[in-house]
Amino acid sequence: MKPGALAKQLEKLGLRAREDFLLHLPLRYEDETALAPPGEAPPATPVYLEARVLRAEIAYRPRRQLVVHALWGEVPLALRFFNFYPSQLRQLQRAADEGLLLRAYGEVRSGWFGAEMAHPRYRIVREGEPLATALTPVYPTTAGVSQAQLRARVREALEAEPLEDTLSEAMRRRVALPAFDAALHALHEPAPDADRAALVERTHPAWQRVKFDELLAQQLSMRLAYRARRGRAAPALPRDGALLTALRARLPFKLTGAQQRVLAEVLADLAQPHPMQRLLQGDVGSGKTIIAALACLAAADGGWQSVVMAPTEILAEQHLRKFTEWLAPLGVKLAWLQGGQPARERRAMLAALEAGEATIAIGTHALFQKGVKLARLGLAVVDEQHRFGVEQRLMLRHKADGGVPHQLMMSATPIPRTLSMSYYADLDVSVIDELPPGRRPVKTRLVAAARRSEVLARIRDACTEGQQAYWVCPVIEESNEGTLQTALDTYETLSRELAGLQVGLLHGRLPAGEKAAAMTAFAEGRTQLLVATTVIEVGVDVPNASLMVIEHAERFGLAQLHQLRGRVGRGARDSVCILLYGTRLSEAARARLKIIFENADGFEIARQDLLLRGPGEVLGERQSGAPLLRFADLERDAALIAAARTAAEEMLAQAPQRARRHLARWLAGRQEYARV
Ligand code: ADP
Ligand code: MG
Repeated sequence: MKPGALAKQLEKLGLRAREDFLLHLPLRYEDETALAPPGEAPPATPVYLEARVLRAEIAYRPRRQLVVHALWGEVPLALRFFNFYPSQLRQLQRAADEGLLLRAYGEVRSGWFGAEMAHPRYRIVREGEPLATALTPVYPTTAGVSQAQLRARVREALEAEPLEDTLSEAMRRRVALPAFDAALHALHEPAPDADRAALVERTHPAWQRVKFDELLAQQLSMRLAYRARRGRAAPALPRDGALLTALRARLPFKLTGAQQRVLAEVLADLAQPHPMQRLLQGDVGSGKTIIAALACLAAADGGWQSVVMAPTEILAEQHLRKFTEWLAPLGVKLAWLQGGQPARERRAMLAALEAGEATIAIGTHALFQKGVKLARLGLAVVDEQHRFGVEQRLMLRHKADGGVPHQLMMSATPIPRTLSMSYYADLDVSVIDELPPGRRPVKTRLVAAARRSEVLARIRDACTEGQQAYWVCPVIEESNEGTLQTALDTYETLSRELAGLQVGLLHGRLPAGEKAAAMTAFAEGRTQLLVATTVIEVGVDVPNASLMVIEHAERFGLAQLHQLRGRVGRGARDSVCILLYGTRLSEAARARLKIIFENADGFEIARQDLLLRGPGEVLGERQSGAPLLRFADLERDAALIAAARTAAEEMLAQAPQRARRHLARWLAGRQEYARV
């Protein structure tokens, strides 16, 4: 292969700089430090052996192959290669002529004509050549890059100038970690008596060091991003302006303790002259919206505009209703933006925002679009933030002329502690950990689909008593059309089966006006049963609805089920969520249903979700913005995360240059760990 071609293949493995090779760590090891005694090959276990080459030839049965006949001590041995180069044949023939030896690593089987090895790794050697003194690493690789090439490049990287240990002695001792240089040698060329199990399982102290360094780099990157933000300007907003005080005085309910605490945190941030970037977490129904409204008023009091963005039209409209109810009496002007809005209305809204006449813009993705200009954007609220991509959120930031607006991100999908300590370490986090008074826990029932008729009777009873119910239609994997059709069919069937009840239908493809009408009819109690797709998953709030049926619940994700279930249990009544499940459940589906049945706490559900699926999937949008950790594992190495966090603070304070060198080693010119 040409040198350029090799570089290209190496690049595919992410190997460019010296650091990349140093941190390209073995998957496993082979022991070439000792030779197996001739004839001794335990079944299904690779051995390292030495044999004299007798003859090399091409055979054609059962298929074309290179066969090498050798003598392993007294034992005849055949080595077979199905893929080979002509040069290989010549090399082996020469070895036979010169009476040379070969050393091969692989499994020995007994074949037709005695002992055989199939495509073993081998090397031609002369008599008495010394054996390896360290275990031989096996690296992750790709087509066209051999283990020998990788080993050579890694050795080169290891043996170039000495490696700086970016951790101080004191820090290393505190976390009980080996020196960096020693750790890398232990991983790339372990001594023959090294604990191979610990190396492969990645529990060896050398692995701890590498994982710690990786987590430290992540923490440093997050802290630096955090500091950079603190260095930018944003308007300092008053905590006790007229509008804010007025709404607080006339709230329809008393804020819970958790809401008061979180509000104080948000207002304290907003009073600072640099942009807030706060994640407001609270389980479904914990009352995040009012906090958002109060924050918008702090902006208004300072003479600044806000945008409130929601991932769906239904949710945006609900915000509009709530904000109108709370803020219109105070004379605050709202603007409303959504896709498919009449052009004239849209123009009027845009003009009002650009002129600064409207104080708060509420809407969906439509808020991002070109032409949306705000005279004085001071605060951006992103509801259900995990539904938006990093790019979209960045665009919102650019809507502010010059400065950066404060950002309040809200989410009912709780981020497990280990995730928030790592991937979200650059955000400030507030948690509403208390539900408004009077909420009753939702009872969850698992019911086989075969008992559907009992469920129908139950809906009829509940609705006759004046309650309302949701019927959530199953998602059809990989097909929106299928999901839509199912919703339409379900609506027809249920309307027939429950004749006499008012049944409504809500799905994502309805025109905006019809969606709003269906939602309003249900909110006002004019329809009793709402057949819906997962469009109701986020944020919909109808306290009188106390029964929810989720059809084919096994097809939903855990976060989704938790969100859906959160749509009931918002009123004074006992609520029930019925999970209908089909036959033939997969292991994973069974595990999900068990978790949702046994747990009501969103944090616990999210934690179990993380265990079940791993951070890659749970992270969702963050994934696209940040490379995941290569070595550390958020669950297994949770203790290291906490230590890395403390170390990052200390390092930035005491040895900022060393901190930057540490980060450079791990990023090696790549992107940051996170961009928010
Ligand atoms: P979420 O956190 O899921 O977005 P919402 O903000 O939609 O929750 O609030 C859920 C419901 O609880 C709304 O009807 C809201 O008006 C009401 N609510 C919020 N805070 C309180 C409170 N402190 N006391 C009583 N009801 C509240
Ligand atoms: Mg909400």
